[in-house]
Amino acid sequence: MSLHPQFARPRTLDQAADLLSGLASGAVVIAGGQELTPSINYGHLMPSVYVDIGAIRELKGIKADDGEIAIGALTVHRDLQNNEIVQSDLPLLAHAATQVGGGWQVHNRGTIGGNIVCMHPLYDILPSLLALKADVEIATAGGVRRAALAEIMTETSHGLGSEAILTRVLVTPMPAGTGWGYEKLKITAGAYGSANAAAVVSLTGPKISNLRVVIGAVTALPVDVSAGLAEFVGREWSASLGQALAERCSALIAEPLSDHQGHGDWRRAMAGVVAARAVAAAVGRVGKD
Ligand SMILES: Cc1cc2nc3c(=O)[nH]c(=O)nc-3n(C[C@H](O)[C@H](O)[C@H](O)COP(=O)(O)OP(=O)(O)OC[C@H]3O[C@@H](n4cnc5c(N)ncnc54)[C@H](O)[C@@H]3O)c2cc1C
Repeated sequence: MSLHPQFARPRTLDQAADLLSGLASGAVVIAGGQELTPSINYGHLMPSVYVDIGAIRELKGIKADDGEIAIGALTVHRDLQNNEIVQSDLPLLAHAATQVGGGWQVHNRGTIGGNIVCMHPLYDILPSLLALKADVEIATAGGVRRAALAEIMTETSHGLGSEAILTRVLVTPMPAGTGWGYEKLKITAGAYGSANAAAVVSLTGPKISNLRVVIGAVTALPVDVSAGLAEFVGREWSASLGQALAERCSALIAEPLSDHQGHGDWRRAMAGVVAARAVAAAVGRVGKD
């Protein structure tokens, strides 16, 4: 560890990308510091250079742009909760941001970019973004590329690389008539989730015509179980269908985590519970947002 880490605060994305490409691997990007600072305090990370991206204008703001919502990487949880565009077009994401723990400090400082890049199994934002099929934009000194969020996720980390900066999150607005649900189960009020689920549902008449479910906090990375739920499409929601969906979702969980949030067998069972609750909430919201 360098006892005197250096600090850089580039003003543009190009400057930041050039800086990162020229630095040794001990350099880290810092945004809100809500993940990084605890990691450093616990001695898990010892950067030699901090590259503070907080002054880069290109990473700020939320706007509707060419049929999609572009969310700057520096957008904090509080803005996701309160922004009118997110509230009206991506209510699932606005709600998920309210479920982030840690209080005012984390809500006012923690960014969507930092939350994504951590790829922490217990966090709240990824399941919703995956259920909404979000893309991300990534900048390096070589240029900017766009990728599906699902594609940059790997088993051990994010697929960004240490020289990359996540710049924007791009999400298609939820079509009118789409229902959504986000359910989080915690063992105490201040705990991280033991299981969470994001659901997006469309109905044709009383029957489910589109169903997306992503389960988080149960496995090393959130699991998109939508492909395993094909048999529920074309069916009318009921308590018995909810029970069947819960059982199916639990069965789709391989290698559940066992940690402070609970034992793996219980987490697997709870994955089904939160998934069924999220779908029930989504069905109940169809046509109401
Ligand atoms: C007490 C506490 C409770 C919390 N509870 C929850 C919770 O319940 N749910 C939840 O979802 N989260 C929770 N968090 C985590 C917090 O929400 C996220 O960590 C926050 O969004 C991280 O964003 P940041 O800007 O602070 O990231 P930072 O700490 O600045 O960075 C985190 C990581 O991402 C990298 N990084 C950041 N931005 C970029 C970028 N644009 N491009 C490339 N790399 C980048 C950094 O290099 C670092 O590796 C909690 C945090 C604390 C301290």
